[in-house]
Amino acid sequence: MELAASGAGRKNFPLRKRTGTAAFHLSREAVDFGQDDLEKMSERDAVGLLAQVNWGSAKEMPCPHCGTIDTHYWRSRELRWKCKCCGKTFSVTSGTVFHDRKLPLKKILKIVYGWVNGASGKPALQLRRDWNVSYPTVFTLLHKLREGLARGFNTGMLSGVQEMDGLDLLGRRYKEKRNRPQRGKKAAKPTLPEELLRERIDPETGEIFGPEKPIKLDKTARQPADRRLLLVMRRRGTSKGKGASDTRVAIAITESATSVMAMAKRFASTESSIVSDEDPAYSGFRQLFNEHRTINHSEGYSDGRGTSSNQAESFNARMKRLVRGIYLNPSVKYLHSYAAEAAWREDTRRMSTGKKLRHLLGFVMSVGISAWWKGYTHGEHRSTELLVTGDRPAPPRGRPKGWTPKAPR
Ligand SMILES: [Zn+2]
Repeated sequence: MELAASGAGRKNFPLRKRTGTAAFHLSREAVDFGQDDLEKMSERDAVGLLAQVNWGSAKEMPCPHCGTIDTHYWRSRELRWKCKCCGKTFSVTSGTVFHDRKLPLKKILKIVYGWVNGASGKPALQLRRDWNVSYPTVFTLLHKLREGLARGFNTGMLSGVQEMDGLDLLGRRYKEKRNRPQRGKKAAKPTLPEELLRERIDPETGEIFGPEKPIKLDKTARQPADRRLLLVMRRRGTSKGKGASDTRVAIAITESATSVMAMAKRFASTESSIVSDEDPAYSGFRQLFNEHRTINHSEGYSDGRGTSSNQAESFNARMKRLVRGIYLNPSVKYLHSYAAEAAWREDTRRMSTGKKLRHLLGFVMSVGISAWWKGYTHGEHRSTELLVTGDRPAPPRGRPKGWTPKAPR
């Protein structure tokens, strides 16, 4: 009787069956590894895990000093190897972005695993509180992971059907900044001052002056200096209902023909078929690629025949959440790194937790010693901003060198 009653109660639940990625995340397969499993590991197990990821073996590996591949001597007390050829010792993190690490490997893995599990990212400040380590330590560690993704993951040409789109990020718009009443009311639409719209008559000649039509309040004319454009290119997956499979990102100043072409030449092969919106910046694609289709967004998001840039828009949504909701307006200089992070999170959305951790470490450990974050806490900062049209010097943040406070009067 009781069974029948509970069965009847359960009948209508869940009301709507979850499909796609949401269904995956609720399934058993989504979680095959957890912080508990990391807790059970010894420091030696952590070395073994990284050796497997890095070299595919904990027995045979290349020496980072001389390159000899052999079964080098294992020194179990130091958790290091001694090279059979040159006699130098090395650890599993020698010559990788984790070179010169101060934290135990197990702790690094715990922090990295916590970061991996955030859907749209995880702030360094939160991880600092979770694991009781200093903020600069976590900040540089996370940026080394992003560097690994930017240099290892966000590379290589795509082929097949790709969607391309741009997204404005950072640098607040005028309507977000001024003339905004409090208590959630909508801001008034900006209007041109009356005197600019009125005709003026020259008192001497009687000639009439004045604007033929009002000056356009377009976004490029009013673009703030720290506004950037994120360009995204996504390859459509071949299995139905699974969405896009590969993502490439780059940062530009504006959505111009130059920046869009630079992005396409870097990441798309000439046999590609590209779908974009009707922005005139993409007009040169017809000559460059096998096929170029456009979707007019004022008419619809898809024409029902496969012309849509919805996969690219889907990435944009995650990137927006990352920038506005998690990292709260990251600096212009490092926006490229955050974009690479978002691309990786989007592409690994259907991977189990353990697989994701190994996937990330594989890319991160493949790029060698950190080129951008080594010595960061000692004041060695990257001086350039990475743009698709070429790097450009980034102004340093904070007070200039040698700044001293003014003496009080
Ligand atoms: Zn050696």
